[in-house]
Amino acid sequence: MRAMQVIEWGKPLELREMETPEPKGREVLVRITACGVCHSDLHIWEGGFNLGDGEFARVEDRGVYTPFTMGHEPLGTVEKLGPEAEGVEVGGSYIVYPWIGCGDCAHCRDTETELLCASPRVIGTRVDGGYADYVIVPDAKYLVDYTGVDQNLACTYACSGLTAYSALKKLPELGAEDHVMTIGAGGVGLSAVHFASAVTPAKILTADVDGTKRAAARQVGAHDTIDNAEADAVAKVLEMTGGGVAATIDFVGRPETSRFGVDCLRKGGVQVQVGLYGEKSSVPLPFFPLKMISMLGSYVGNLREMRELMELVKDGRVPPIPIETRPLEAANSALDDLVAGNVLGRVVLKP
Ligand SMILES: [Zn+2]
Ligand SMILES: [Zn+2]
Repeated sequence: MRAMQVIEWGKPLELREMETPEPKGREVLVRITACGVCHSDLHIWEGGFNLGDGEFARVEDRGVYTPFTMGHEPLGTVEKLGPEAEGVEVGGSYIVYPWIGCGDCAHCRDTETELLCASPRVIGTRVDGGYADYVIVPDAKYLVDYTGVDQNLACTYACSGLTAYSALKKLPELGAEDHVMTIGAGGVGLSAVHFASAVTPAKILTADVDGTKRAAARQVGAHDTIDNAEADAVAKVLEMTGGGVAATIDFVGRPETSRFGVDCLRKGGVQVQVGLYGEKSSVPLPFFPLKMISMLGSYVGNLREMRELMELVKDGRVPPIPIETRPLEAANSALDDLVAGNVLGRVVLKP
């Protein structure tokens, strides 16, 4: 089989030929027909996450070494079942839920808590992923039905869609008069604006520094938008919302976006941090007690949320995001375009 692999961190991926793996035990071999290229792939490609002030979290420190195949939004056809695999048929096509734990610990025995596993085997971030012809899935329970949805769109729900959905599910209970501000209208942020009305009755205000992305957000349901690069952006948000937003979701995760979100919160507000851009928060600590705000982190979503999300998608309650397909060999151009901020929606590779 072929795979576009990281041979050296940060250097262009290389097309390599290798042995197609054999499924053992409960494993399933899936022939990949679509795999989304996610912004977080850029961090793995670079070999880690910038924590700010010269700190860097290397993926090698968590046991991920080159050559490595990225791709955590795979979708494809069941090619072969391990001798103990059950629940799917050869020839069936599924989304691969990639956020898989060790399978043995107390967290992994419950799909609600599997994300808390200390020894994850996430496809495309910990073990070889979907920038390839085939991928091994540890158990058929991680294969999710997408009947009626275009496969090039369906694969993106495994990360960008699921991340957006799970972040929205972490919002406090809100009313129709409340405002939620989403910061960043790239792949994940734009998905969140799309789903928002299926999860919360609150009005959605979207912040982005790019006018094209703000326009895209309005098109898919944002009640209003704001350019957070403007000097008086906070004052404008406070005025637009009558004193501040009830909750913010920071899909960027830069010092400036995190600070902007907190500055726009009303008293008692909640900020959900999602984006992994990097560096340190610049939020003044006295704000937490004085404004009685809280901040929490949301990372992708669990298997139950994945299935819930796909039910919403199948019901037509989640309008599609823009998708552009490219051949597997074009993975480098997709990553370069993401670095340059030139991707609206998602690029999907077609092995
Ligand atoms: Zn992702
Ligand atoms: Zn585990």
